[in-house]
Amino acid sequence: MSAQGTATTSTTRAVRAAIGSDTAHRAVVPPLYLSANFVFESPGVCGRYDYTRSGNPTRDHLAEALADLEGGCGAIITASGMAAISVVTQLLGCGDTLLAPHDGYGGSYRLFTAEGRRVGYETVFVDQTSEQALDIARARRPRVIWIETPSNPFLRITDIRRWTDLARDIGAVSVVDNTFLSPANQLPLELGADLVVHSATKFINGHSDVVAGAIIAKDPALLDQLAWWTNCLGVAGAPFDAYLALRGLRTLFARSAVHERNALRVVDVLATHDTVTGLYHPSLATHGGHDIAARQQSGWGSLVSLELAGGRPAVDAFLRELRLFTLAESLGGVESLVSHPTTMTHASMDEEGRRVAGIHDGLLRLSVGIEDADDLVADLQNALTKAEEVACTPV
Ligand SMILES: *Cc1c(COP(=O)(O)O)cnc(C)c1O
Repeated sequence: MSAQGTATTSTTRAVRAAIGSDTAHRAVVPPLYLSANFVFESPGVCGRYDYTRSGNPTRDHLAEALADLEGGCGAIITASGMAAISVVTQLLGCGDTLLAPHDGYGGSYRLFTAEGRRVGYETVFVDQTSEQALDIARARRPRVIWIETPSNPFLRITDIRRWTDLARDIGAVSVVDNTFLSPANQLPLELGADLVVHSATKFINGHSDVVAGAIIAKDPALLDQLAWWTNCLGVAGAPFDAYLALRGLRTLFARSAVHERNALRVVDVLATHDTVTGLYHPSLATHGGHDIAARQQSGWGSLVSLELAGGRPAVDAFLRELRLFTLAESLGGVESLVSHPTTMTHASMDEEGRRVAGIHDGLLRLSVGIEDADDLVADLQNALTKAEEVACTPV
């Protein structure tokens, strides 16, 4: 996959993906091919590309780079993360079972339940951190086992190796949504997974200006099957989006290092503040998934969730005061973000669902960006002081 002849690290290969590959004008950065169609030599005879829905050189540059970084045989670039996930669900037919985490991405949950009802496949949602869930999987014999780790917003860690071993034993296809960590921090194919999916909207592109997705496969036959569906459904990614995402991908490793360093500083500050009554990050020894994360991840990630004393009034004061954390959904961009799960990412969940999941009004999720760590820390400390004043004011 790599253009380099000698062995290089992923960091280097991400930076150098497709650099110097242009043969027409020897451009250092490969050109963007926006063309919808390609010239046929004669009737029925064309080159590698004929029509951009089926294949496009710019999209292939991104696909080859991602396949290389994830350790797959190839990749498919889709119009969004959900497009990638919906392509993978084409593996499920009437009478099949899909086993998925109960605390997975809301859009995946919505797709699985709605499509399962229509197509006739059964969806079983389990807590994949529990022993019982493995027994349920053995009993139910799912066709596909869906894994998402770390989870949102509590960053629960699922043991990928245990689940992919089980999948192999029962003949299931194992899929890992690697959006929260990216290949810079976790390599699910090495841990036995058959497929990796990404919302490339997040860390892969990393600049919050592209919506895109990817599927990376270990087995060429499975890749071909999913590429066939991508073309059939017409959900391949746009060349311009692929161009931008590849530009973002070049700095993935450099960005990830700063994201993580800043997240650890933020965790340090939050851990010592009285008004923070709950703190969730896999780096914490008190985090339930700490040991598994230490084993299967090469970095802790830069999503941090916290609970504030004083409920909604304290949250409102905190958010009003923050200057360097923008109130928005999504994650993984260079800019720091804060989100309020109850009213944002998990608003479509009913009250009872949120109660069971432990998502309440005082909970916030940070996507720690790559600004200067001292600035981020000062901003948080200032906002925490305001939140504390509100929390301590008797009503
Ligand atoms: C954002 C996200 C998705 C969906 O991706 P889109 O690009 O928004 O379609 C899927 N899984 C996870 C974990 C995500 O964070």
